[in-house]
Amino acid sequence: MTHPSRRDLLVAASAAAVLGRGVVGAPRPRHTGDAHRGAVCVASANGLPATRRAYELVTDGYDPADAVVQGVRIIEDDPSDTSVGLGGLPNEDGIVELDACVMHGPTHKCGAVASLQNIRNPAMVALHVLRRTDHCLLVGEGALRFARQMGFQEENLLTESTRLEWLKWRENMSREDDRLNDDERDEPVGKVWVDPDRRAGLDRVRARPIQHQTGTVHCSAITPAGDIASCTSTSGLSWKIPGRVGDSPIIGAGNYCDNNIGAAGSTGRGEANLANLSSFLIVELMGRGMTPTEACLEAARRVVANTKEHRLRRADGTVTFDLKFYALRKDGAFGGATLWKGGSFAVCDERGARIEPAASVFDIAAPE
Ligand code: ASP
Repeated sequence: MTHPSRRDLLVAASAAAVLGRGVVGAPRPRHTGDAHRGAVCVASANGLPATRRAYELVTDGYDPADAVVQGVRIIEDDPSDTSVGLGGLPNEDGIVELDACVMHGPTHKCGAVASLQNIRNPAMVALHVLRRTDHCLLVGEGALRFARQMGFQEENLLTESTRLEWLKWRENMSREDDRLNDDERDEPVGKVWVDPDRRAGLDRVRARPIQHQTGTVHCSAITPAGDIASCTSTSGLSWKIPGRVGDSPIIGAGNYCDNNIGAAGSTGRGEANLANLSSFLIVELMGRGMTPTEACLEAARRVVANTKEHRLRRADGTVTFDLKFYALRKDGAFGGATLWKGGSFAVCDERGARIEPAASVFDIAAPE
């Protein structure tokens, strides 16, 4: 028999101090979404307009897959959301590569695209994969050719602001390369000419952090008749290695639905989710009787427990990243959970669109 080391015991004790109190035998926590019944749409917090649109469409008789994709399209079209579609942050070469998937409960069919360039609405392309092909996932050049065949127009998805953010990251990446970091450049001796239309972009970029950034939009919906669909769309991790695919377009990881049980989706560190297939797990847990919030929390706890790499763990038992889950159940109950306290998600039902607090694994907010 092996005995835990002193370090293991210390880490476990300190983890107990920061972990949420989901202990066996304790009264079940109640969450506002537990009691909800009927049509509802749930999304990541940046998807508030998506839930409003998807709810309008499901209550107007649209297929739930069209509803969630049209909801997500609003976020994909918004250049100010740098996590998805037009204006998404690019890969390490400065090229925007998008991932998306849609799952349709009534047919239990899915469609997805990954590493798609030049098309601002990957979720719509994914819906064409679902409806018009025998395949589930198209990637890269093949996905782009398919999108062209479906009539999608190509465009440059990099905005002036995301180009400048990429440039700032690239220049400050290393002192060993030939690009000068901000603090390696000499001050000019006079005014520097900046084209007027670029001035605002430059100023904004100076204020933004240059670390890797994540972000995604997820939206799930259930119709008044109880049919379910779910969609996740993203530009993925900023400055990623070209060709990197995260969890968002992978069915069972970033998105999953079962018309008899419910739907789930995720945003946050895709690599952590890919190794745990959390969306599939959340739907399975709801099928075994958990509420959406309990199921999201359990999946989040498993991600923490399965994080073994030292570079991703902190001495206090927490981890160095975040992951967020969103779920709805066949009866209309909904919920969400994150690793860190203070997270939220969007929901729209008969009371309108609003932001709800998410449950969390850790009882503390993410460190700065
Ligand atoms: N999950 C996305 C990915 O890993 C990114 C995110 O949601 O922040 O590609």
